[in-house]
Amino acid sequence: MSPLTQRLVVVSNRLPIVLEKKSHGWGLKPGAGGLVSALAPVLSHRGGLWIGWPGLPLERGGAWEGVLAEGYRERGYELVPVLLSEDEVKGFYEGFANAILWPLFHDLLGQCNFDPSFWYAYLKVNEKFADCVIHHGRDEDFIWVQDYQLIHVAEYARRQRESARIGFFLHIPFPPLDILLKLPWRGQILQAFLAYDLLGFQTPRDTRNFLTCIASLLPEAEIHDGGAITEVRLGSRSVRVGAFPIGIDFQSYEDAARSEDVTRRRVELRERMGPRQLIVGVDRLDYTKGLVERLKAFRNALQRHKELREQAILFQVVVPSREGVPEYQSLKADIERLVGEINGEFSTAGWVPVHYHYKSLARRDLLALYRLARVCFVTSIKDGMNLVAKEFCAVQVDGCGVLVLSEFAGAAAQLQVGALLVNPHDIEGMADALKAAFDMDEDERRARMERMREVVREQDIFWWVDYYLQAALGTVPDDFRAMKEYLPPIMIEEYL
Ligand code: UDP
Repeated sequence: MSPLTQRLVVVSNRLPIVLEKKSHGWGLKPGAGGLVSALAPVLSHRGGLWIGWPGLPLERGGAWEGVLAEGYRERGYELVPVLLSEDEVKGFYEGFANAILWPLFHDLLGQCNFDPSFWYAYLKVNEKFADCVIHHGRDEDFIWVQDYQLIHVAEYARRQRESARIGFFLHIPFPPLDILLKLPWRGQILQAFLAYDLLGFQTPRDTRNFLTCIASLLPEAEIHDGGAITEVRLGSRSVRVGAFPIGIDFQSYEDAARSEDVTRRRVELRERMGPRQLIVGVDRLDYTKGLVERLKAFRNALQRHKELREQAILFQVVVPSREGVPEYQSLKADIERLVGEINGEFSTAGWVPVHYHYKSLARRDLLALYRLARVCFVTSIKDGMNLVAKEFCAVQVDGCGVLVLSEFAGAAAQLQVGALLVNPHDIEGMADALKAAFDMDEDERRARMERMREVVREQDIFWWVDYYLQAALGTVPDDFRAMKEYLPPIMIEEYL
């Protein structure tokens, strides 16, 4: 059987549902996010399993088990929970995943805490996930493991079922060699990647980083470049590697953007904002998103490009995330101090330059905001993809917004066709890009947005699933072109 018809077993840190404790028992809500909306219909269609942590400390034999099993008939696929103790969550999830791999893979070495106990917790939990895969999976299943928390699942699963077909997708960036070398467990992590049959990365840059690490640290590995897909052979193992940029459900964003509800909300927002133009930022609270740099760039734009004063509003939504972690609290304090400074320095009667919202938005409000915005400002220091950039394009049904996008967001590889690309460390460069976005004439804005929308429309989330599963089968169609990496044009000036 091929992966296109095989039963699919999706393995991710979290299950695609949220269990809620209610006064009369347990309730079940669908989880949010692109991965859930892409994979759930595929699983429903062909039947399968989704293995993951339910997100709460739970005991076997509780009433919640019946609630998880109940929706099976409508969903068409099974949910298999992996239960974790509070200590396991601390060491594996908060520790190894979020205090080591997350910052390191985003090139933020200073945020890492290489506590050895985190490594052991990570291994133990990965083994638990692998046991669950083996226990519930069948020989002929195609197992698709998602993301950085679960890199070791294939290695453990193969100890019990060597011939299992297992693929992996890394949603976050893969670091360059010099950064990976800092990881005390670099050899084990690199080797664990090689236990998969197909490795998917977000961009050509991540793929290149991975292949450079392999070539430099494992010189005995043979690397065969096959265009869109590269094959790595080491001993008896052969691993296929490629870039598969994750997309969004374009059609659902476009339809929702045109809906009466969103249109009404947009009109209300416009009335409240008056004639000012909005620069929109939407991010989880995270030090990878370049929020401090973004605020400094906006301040610099107001200082150097005085025409933007009283014209532009930076509407920044920060979605609460990892609230218990001290680094995130201090980042929040830095952001709030800067917002206060900018508003204190520049506000006039009737104009407050930064509108700051620390909360999550209802989908209708988010879409209305994207539609209203003149500019969407994405300044990630490093980002696997950045779906906000793609959602903004999908919602621009009038085609007039400008995307100012970090060179270090994975989305830059696809959206270089129309975005104004910026280096998030270059405060003046970002300020000038904002000015350029405000000065750009309507024809150019429309043409740039149309080019980006075409990419986001064609390479949507369903294309991503299909492309990955076809690659797992070994038949990548010709029209899946190898993507071009984004590299900035550097002008070499003559020196005296
Ligand atoms: N988002 C959300 N609630 C909000 C605002 C945004 O769930 O109040 C969504 C947004 O629509 C996007 C996701 O959060 O789909 C953020 O994804 P992105 O890839 O930009 O960054 P990540 O948070 O995954 O690092």
